[in-house]
Amino acid sequence: MCIFCNIIEGEIPSEKVYEDETCIIIKDIEPIAPIHLLMIPKKHYARLEDASVSEAMELSFMLNKLAQIKDDLGLQNGYRIVINQGKDGGQTVEHLHIHILGGRPLSWQA
Ligand code: 5GP
Ligand code: ZN
Repeated sequence: MCIFCNIIEGEIPSEKVYEDETCIIIKDIEPIAPIHLLMIPKKHYARLEDASVSEAMELSFMLNKLAQIKDDLGLQNGYRIVINQGKDGGQTVEHLHIHILGGRPLSWQA
């Protein structure tokens, strides 16, 4: 089982800030911004191209949920979402996840 599936199952501890039937949001273990969260679908698939139509729809519901709860997460001044995809994208965990970054003005660099 992958590391995020283990976190979802509660086998590996995490700092969970949100959970519903489709996803969890946890604090990233190595934050690169004052707020660095990971929104992780409960269903395992590695990348966007592996998502079924229903999983892709679930992703858009997750974004809608994020927009509704952003203030509760401390993101009232704005935030950035990032999905790293594959080798060039810097993806290290092969279970799709949305990075949520905020807590200060973020520079734009690759
Ligand atoms: P990726 O590089 O795949 O886009 O992002 C993976 C992220 O998962 C990294 O930012 C890394 O710090 C985070 N991460 C890896 N292992 C763990 C873990 O066990 N717990 C938590 N909370 N985050 C993790
Ligand atoms: Zn997984």
